[in-house]
Amino acid sequence: MGQNSVLKLFRDSGALLDGHFRLSSGLHSGGYLQCALVLQHPAHAESLGRALGEKLRSLGATVVLSPALGGLIIGHEVGRALGVRAIFAERQDGTLTLRRGFSLAPTDRVVVIEDVVTTGGSTRETMAVAQAAGATVVGAGAVIDRSGGSSNLGAPFAALVTLSLPTYQPDACPMCAAGQPVVKPGSRA
Ligand SMILES: [Zn+2]
Repeated sequence: MGQNSVLKLFRDSGALLDGHFRLSSGLHSGGYLQCALVLQHPAHAESLGRALGEKLRSLGATVVLSPALGGLIIGHEVGRALGVRAIFAERQDGTLTLRRGFSLAPTDRVVVIEDVVTTGGSTRETMAVAQAAGATVVGAGAVIDRSGGSSNLGAPFAALVTLSLPTYQPDACPMCAAGQPVVKPGSRA
């Protein structure tokens, strides 16, 4: 599954929109990405998980670890593709942690899976959860890398799509300057 077919799946699902958007951060952008809208279709989630799993198979992972909530569905599908467990870490009092009886052993080789990597911050945090549990982190993967390739994770990383979605302060936004109406993503036109 190449970059173009992944992007087509996103656009067809409304998970990637082109326009002029006011993001929840207050910044403006010409593109809007919401992975949940493509992953809500189990067949798409399975295809994306299989494609991402193939890129990571050589790492020899024995378990997939994802940060909740964004990484859950794709992590589970990558786990299915690789034939290994898929577990998740979630926040408790602000700290990402393993709950629900999930455990990692020193013999576990962990691959961290997310839907989107933006700064790499949550990927690094999830890698640290695995390391703190005594396991070995063998790599990380995401459906979409929008970090601009700048997130150095210190481990092999693979993404299905590399995407650049620049954001602007409203007073420096070229679409505002062009008089294009701005919309809040998710609101009806
Ligand atoms: Zn604008």
